[in-house]
Amino acid sequence: MKRTRLFIALTVAVLGCAQTRQITDAEVMRVHRSTLLIDTHNDVPWRVVDGFDIGTKVRSGHTDIARMKEGGVGAQFFAVYIPGEFVEGNRSASQTLKVIDAVRHDIIERYPNDFMFATSAKDIEEAHKNGKIAALMGIEGGHAMEDSLRLLRDYYKLGIRYMTLTHSNTNNWADSSGDMTKAGVKHHNGLTNFGKEVVQEMNRLGMMVDISHVADKTFWDTLEVSKAPIFASHSSCRALANAPRNMTDEMIVALAKKGGVVQVNFNCGFLSQKFLDAQPAESPRLEARFKQETAGKKLSEPEGDIVYDRLRKEMGLTRAKLSDLVDHIDHIKKIAGIEAIGIGSDYNGVTCVPEGMDDVSKYPVLTRALLEKGYSAEDIRKIYGGNFLRVMRAVEAAAGK
Ligand SMILES: [Zn+2]
Repeated sequence: MKRTRLFIALTVAVLGCAQTRQITDAEVMRVHRSTLLIDTHNDVPWRVVDGFDIGTKVRSGHTDIARMKEGGVGAQFFAVYIPGEFVEGNRSASQTLKVIDAVRHDIIERYPNDFMFATSAKDIEEAHKNGKIAALMGIEGGHAMEDSLRLLRDYYKLGIRYMTLTHSNTNNWADSSGDMTKAGVKHHNGLTNFGKEVVQEMNRLGMMVDISHVADKTFWDTLEVSKAPIFASHSSCRALANAPRNMTDEMIVALAKKGGVVQVNFNCGFLSQKFLDAQPAESPRLEARFKQETAGKKLSEPEGDIVYDRLRKEMGLTRAKLSDLVDHIDHIKKIAGIEAIGIGSDYNGVTCVPEGMDDVSKYPVLTRALLEKGYSAEDIRKIYGGNFLRVMRAVEAAAGK
């Protein structure tokens, strides 16, 4: 391993490149441990609500306590993700309450030595000082509040500290990037008047407004109406990977100007154009193999995602590279500055993550890559959590908290 690295370093030196500094493992870990790593999007609750034990010693999927500790995770926003299907029959609120209970009861209360329930920037720092992982919650999908500000306030009281205005589905008050070209969906040209009230009520409560997943016009409307900075809990750059779910340069720059932060998503499909281009050819092969493997088994969606992740590796299909992830960070730095970058992995919510970044234990691999790219320890501390804490504090201050 060491020899390979030295060889690469020498080769780079011979080629006349600037990055010749060799980074030791000790330096990587020293810098890594000096950060307060806040990941604003992990979908493991989706699995926990079905009975998965986050304290398990069996490594499957992207997330469990042991690997969170290996990865040096300081604070985790657990996604309270509500699939769009729950809109039918008004089942969204009931599902939201179940997932909140999964986080509070099955994750935080079950493992009090590992997690501390957190609802503020101060709590995050306090948990970190006590050597615990701060555990927070964000709702993914504005339909969770069933068009009721009363439910929104209830969710805040239960500890929800951000809400993603939409998931892939347009709801009754905000357009999503996920169905803009889908026939039969009633769109609103961004946020409706009630949607604007939702944003204002979130501002008043001190709940962070998350624009990941929303349509471009919804983003612009939200940016205009919100009196506190807004953020993207798990989004990447459209200039590098052309997915409608990613942010354009214009959006990133405007969000940063208002003090917000883009928490970069690790999903291959949001990081790598090469991955996106390979899908038409590779997807049918992957699907066929998936059907073969899971024939006769009844898998939940999160369990199915784990199988896809494994099969993609076994079949040697295209994945994003660690350098793609670094490129997105670099791109945001170039157009909007170091203050606009954060981490929103989407672990356990996606079927493909970059090579080398296989699960939550791998964050130090990213730290090494950033050091090699010339990022300072101070830069990395900002990216990993400093920037996000600044935004969270601004949202709290705007609410008078
Ligand atoms: Zn998402």
